[in-house]
Amino acid sequence: MGMDDEETVTCSYCGTQASASDALAWTTAVERGRQQRFCVTCSRANLRAMEGKLDSEWW
Ligand SMILES: [Zn+2]
Repeated sequence: MGMDDEETVTCSYCGTQASASDALAWTTAVERGRQQRFCVTCSRANLRAMEGKLDSEWW
């Protein structure tokens, strides 16, 4: 048994895994009472998608 209990975080979107310390930069969102984690790449994609929705009429 090790003392290393570093948590692994999985991206809810693409399934990428990172240690909890690396995942500090990730986005946390709560959907239907469940905590979702999104990696940096997916966070950007989500942000773009959210902004894209607002701006979609321009495209
Ligand atoms: Zn991801």
